[in-house]
Amino acid sequence: MSEENQTEKEPKNKEEKEEKKEVSESAEEKAKFTFKCTQCQRCCLERGPIPITFWDLEMWARNGVVANFMPYLDIYDKHDGGLDLILKPLPPPPKEGEEQPKKDPFGSIPIEDLLTVKCPLYNEEQKKCLVYDNRPLSCRVYPLEFDGKNFTIVDVDCPGIGQEGMSKEELKEMRDTAKTMYYELTRMRIALPVLSQMISQKVMMDLMRQNMEAMSKMTDEDRAKLDEIFQKNKDTPEP
Ligand code: SF4
Ligand code: SF4
Repeated sequence: MSEENQTEKEPKNKEEKEEKKEVSESAEEKAKFTFKCTQCQRCCLERGPIPITFWDLEMWARNGVVANFMPYLDIYDKHDGGLDLILKPLPPPPKEGEEQPKKDPFGSIPIEDLLTVKCPLYNEEQKKCLVYDNRPLSCRVYPLEFDGKNFTIVDVDCPGIGQEGMSKEELKEMRDTAKTMYYELTRMRIALPVLSQMISQKVMMDLMRQNMEAMSKMTDEDRAKLDEIFQKNKDTPEP
């Protein structure tokens, strides 16, 4: 660096000196981020959909537990048009005196209505995560997030933030996990719309093939009956 440039960067007056101090203090503050989970369980109780990544699917496959997670997986159509694979929150049980709602076999309650509902894998009686060793990446890094450029805190009310006792190694590990989460989520968000479209097309083609096969196996008598039904429907005036 030239002497001229160095001189340019020197603070010229008292205000500038104070401004520089403020900047360096806030940088120091940032470096002091410290976290220790207090096990308050808040993030398991009211977190809404938990994104699932390829990292999670690979871990579950390695540990032979994919089937255990299948009933809880769903695809979330987000407002921005994107898709996320998620752990779907379950509807809350009825309150005392309320009727048990009929079981919905298609789970068609909009996810928006379940955003503040507990994670389906949290057991309230036992006060614990039922899949702790296989918990998703997103749970391992909460409440830190990396957006490709910066680290942010997704839940400023998490009581673990500011708790002393975090070592440099733990901080580095948390930051690395946040970066992994970002890259894995990006991979999933690129792959999911493509896979989803291909699967829908395949399901549609399979249905059409099955229909055509069924039609080709019909006897003349069955065909006549079918024609009769179609004719009846045609002749029935619409209400
Ligand atoms: S991460 Fe935060 S909100 Fe979640 S259990 Fe730990 S302290 Fe509580
Ligand atoms: S998977 Fe476990 S750690 Fe993650 S939100 Fe659910 S209960 Fe909590």
